[in-house]
Amino acid sequence: MIHGLLHFSFWEMVLTTLVMTQITVISVTIYLHRCQAHRALELHSSISHFFRFWLWLTTGMTTKAWTAIHRKHHAKCETAEDPHSPVAMGIKTVLFNGAELYRKEKQNKETLERYGQGTPDDFMEDFYVKHSMLGLGIMLALDIILFGLPGITIWAVQMMWIPFFAAGVINGIGHYFGYRNFECPDAARNIIPFGFLLSGEELHNNHHTFGSSAKLSYKWWEFDLGWGIIKIFSFLGLAKVKKLPPKLISNPSKQTIDGETLKAVLLNRFNIMSNYSKDVILPLLKKEKNKIDSGLKDLLIREKSLIDQLEHKKLVFLLQKQKMLNLVYQYKLSLQDIWSRTSATQKELLDALHQWCKSAEESGIEGLKHFAQRIKSYVTHPVS
Ligand SMILES: [Zn+2]
Ligand SMILES: [Zn+2]
Repeated sequence: MIHGLLHFSFWEMVLTTLVMTQITVISVTIYLHRCQAHRALELHSSISHFFRFWLWLTTGMTTKAWTAIHRKHHAKCETAEDPHSPVAMGIKTVLFNGAELYRKEKQNKETLERYGQGTPDDFMEDFYVKHSMLGLGIMLALDIILFGLPGITIWAVQMMWIPFFAAGVINGIGHYFGYRNFECPDAARNIIPFGFLLSGEELHNNHHTFGSSAKLSYKWWEFDLGWGIIKIFSFLGLAKVKKLPPKLISNPSKQTIDGETLKAVLLNRFNIMSNYSKDVILPLLKKEKNKIDSGLKDLLIREKSLIDQLEHKKLVFLLQKQKMLNLVYQYKLSLQDIWSRTSATQKELLDALHQWCKSAEESGIEGLKHFAQRIKSYVTHPVS
């Protein structure tokens, strides 16, 4: 009894615990998050059933509740209605009480009905919801039978893993510390570029930018373990990827603005903004670096809606002294304004894009001119 049926050594137990917690993380990211909440891929029913069963054993979380709370997080991000925003609630609350926030929101019937649509509604789900504690009890019994008394510690680690790493670290740190590839309208950040321990969930800024993508890595140097597993499932015919992040494709011989240019621009607006910072704003900042306040760079690049009133005043004040930088910043805002016009017709958007490119080419700023020329070359599919 003390050693359990497996008679594992200490390190064998550590390794087995890590493997089991990793399977739980994979179940959350692939099944609950990418498949159910965002419909980024379809899974074979055998895989879905395994993930649901494993989540019942190791977390007690059910598909509808998790999916609904997560969809609400995306819909109400960083507002008072966001179920777990460190920006609205403070980092300590989300990092250390993430599981409690989840439990509280689970009681909100309106959240479940409004955001939980399309999740499994079968006999098994009914069973998992009604007997959510039974799964945890079975896991405890299994841990003790297999590992003996240390099984209690293994079980405790399993129980803490998701509340701390998913509810705390991803929902807290992922909206607080790290780097941003894209200026999405919320505070999401990539914690580290290697999505190994949390199977790609570390790449939270990429995810909030391209929410419906099955792949969470974007740059060539970023790694998403969850995506690697999805590729293996796809190869075995057990998964079907529905969506991936858009790619900015250029045809250098194309120098006209047409419907395809507009489509490519709207689809790739985050990549375009990221390129605008890299190719237009930063080179100009580099040139003027001796005359510029150190805080200006961050404010020039940051998404407009994430700049508070005080910072906005500072930005306006600093730009008064920087004519060229002020000009490229105004061009950035007017380009963003094109894709925020939700009620405009295609013709109005095309005219606006045409006008923006023409004016940018005539601005006398070399970086801006080349950027406008590149916009004209964008296409939706590679030229064969
Ligand atoms: Zn988030
Ligand atoms: Zn999500």
